[in-house]
Amino acid sequence: MSISVTTITKNYGKQIALDSISFTIRKGEITGFLGPNGAGKSTLMKILTTYLKPTSGEALVNNFSTQTQSLDVQKSIGYLAESNPLYPEMYVREYLKFQAELNSASLSRINEVITLTGLTPEMTKKIKHLSKGYKQRVGLAAALINDPEVLILDEPTTGLDPNQLKEIRALIKNIGKTKTVLLSTHIMQEVEAICDRVIIINKGKIVADKKMENLRDENEQIIEVEFDYRIEEIALMQFNKATAVKNTRGFVYEITFSSSIDMRPAIFDFAHDNGLKILQLVKKNRSLEQLFQQLTSN
Ligand code: ADP
Repeated sequence: MSISVTTITKNYGKQIALDSISFTIRKGEITGFLGPNGAGKSTLMKILTTYLKPTSGEALVNNFSTQTQSLDVQKSIGYLAESNPLYPEMYVREYLKFQAELNSASLSRINEVITLTGLTPEMTKKIKHLSKGYKQRVGLAAALINDPEVLILDEPTTGLDPNQLKEIRALIKNIGKTKTVLLSTHIMQEVEAICDRVIIINKGKIVADKKMENLRDENEQIIEVEFDYRIEEIALMQFNKATAVKNTRGFVYEITFSSSIDMRPAIFDFAHDNGLKILQLVKKNRSLEQLFQQLTSN
């Protein structure tokens, strides 16, 4: 197991930041740790990277205990902190050489991480002259310098413009093919774009832990239908398994069903029987955004 967290609680004085959370992450998964600000994401990352000790519970990284084998844990981990601390006066290559020496990594690894993170065109520049996206690449390259099994990224795309965001996400996804990646974020789209699995945390507790493919496969479906005429919402509630109906605009209705059977044929029959025409009919997936809002709204 790459990461194993068992009933971890962390209190800051009276503030409970993590409340008895448990999960495991297998090798080679990209897991998103998603939660609103203050949910406890950074606290967990700091525990996994051995910067903080939990109040109770145990965390293992690469089967080493974060509390009693912290050096082994640190060797197994690459960590990109949210602030991405760099030395702005250093040249890219010089900085990575410095990181390699600090981590007792081989010097040949410097070129490998430069290639891996797409830094080749910028490697002779001073860090302070790089764009935010390239600074983030340098942070990632440094995190990868000791070829760690596990990569921990705290809000890795904060402050990037849309193009940089796309590039860094693609880079993380690529790196995730060979590493276990745990990344924290408060951005749902980030998880949808990069991750295989999402763990949603709210107020220090895990409120969902799902593979992305299962998220799209819930036993719930939302169908958006546009008729050529207004109809009472209550009439649409007559459908078997309908749990909610909303008139979203004009003659467009969103009907939620608690059923895994495709309900579109039933809507066609309904329209036919009632002399209505269907102008558009779309089966929507319950989005991660809706799930996130529902789970973190209190
Ligand atoms: P997130 O990363 O999800 O935004 P954090 O782990 O930073 O959440 O914080 C979780 C909770 O713990 C918040 O209520 C925060 O105010 C509190 N907290 C974090 N660090 C400290 C600290 N050093 N001292 C006191 N409270 C803290």
